[in-house]
Amino acid sequence: MAVLSEVPVRQHEARWWETMPDGRLHCYLCPRHCHIGEGQAGFCFIRKNEGGRLLQLGYGRPAALQIDPIEKKPLNHFLPGTRILSMGTAGCNMGCLFCQNWDISKAKADQVRAAQLSPLEVVELAQERGTPSIAFTYNEPTIWGEYVIDIAREARRQGVNTVMVSNGYITREAFFEVYRHIDAANIDLKAFSEGFYGKITMTHLEPVLETLKWLRHETNVWFEITNLMIPTLNDDDSETQRLCGWILENLGDDVPLHFTAFHPDFKLQDKPRTPPETLHAARAIALDAGLHYVYEGNIFSDAAHTFCPSCKMLLIQRSWHDVERNRLQNGCCPNCGLSVPGRWANPHGRTPGKAARERESAGERYLDLNL
Ligand code: SF4
Repeated sequence: MAVLSEVPVRQHEARWWETMPDGRLHCYLCPRHCHIGEGQAGFCFIRKNEGGRLLQLGYGRPAALQIDPIEKKPLNHFLPGTRILSMGTAGCNMGCLFCQNWDISKAKADQVRAAQLSPLEVVELAQERGTPSIAFTYNEPTIWGEYVIDIAREARRQGVNTVMVSNGYITREAFFEVYRHIDAANIDLKAFSEGFYGKITMTHLEPVLETLKWLRHETNVWFEITNLMIPTLNDDDSETQRLCGWILENLGDDVPLHFTAFHPDFKLQDKPRTPPETLHAARAIALDAGLHYVYEGNIFSDAAHTFCPSCKMLLIQRSWHDVERNRLQNGCCPNCGLSVPGRWANPHGRTPGKAARERESAGERYLDLNL
């Protein structure tokens, strides 16, 4: 991720709060429901009570900006092979011991170096760089939902897609406002046990499951699910069976599921990397359960490809995050004609501009931005 120039923290009033009888502020953006005293911040660090108003300290201040392949989010059924302007701020509403972006997620807004970008400037940056989409990622975008909404609204006006890469920890009161202008999401389903969520992430499982059901049944947002498998903590076969069974029953068989490999990071240094065999076994369980699109990530694997669940033809061939070949024809298998769920063409019909194509052909595909 690019480190950006330093600018002062701006004051932007937050949404989703109320004053409590004792004078503290109740933030109901996420299920933590923080009660925040004067001069204090919520668990996520970037929502602060100043003078009886809740401020959003991450607004307009991306602490990380980068152009990634969209497969890195990971999204395998949303504009495959395209690039995405990816941005994050400081803080997080979960306390994951294994966080891989802890340098920003565990930082306060005034502890990170950040750029200053209005929602319009973010969208203009995506257009200038020729990326058809913008991802809210790296730290938890829910906690800077005010900024997300304003960027997504502007992006939709200008024909740019937006993507949430989220832990799914959001209240129903905020969910529909945040996701109203969002085109796609990847939601981390970090485990399928309350014990893991409680001890390892300091949150709860049930609200994440609720978010997944809202996405499936009450929005048109395209979404995929990621399950990071950590040896001995959430890689038990029976847990994977329960996770897959829940997805099948509540979301259907067409939601892509990504099993990804853990590497030691932050406060979880005592666990080994996930062996590839663990991901292979989890994928076999998911396919046996009846899920149609199951991927393996963070390892080199043939399970990065998309196969037709009907005739088994190789449809999209990938190497790591690169798309090497895409055989889909109008979203259908060219062999048996099965319609494969996803968003295969840019709904806004935009193609990268000339400057972006020139950069790409010069080999500048995954450009770090140094503003
Ligand atoms: S968004 Fe932040 S301040 Fe609000 S409830 Fe969640 S953790 Fe607390």
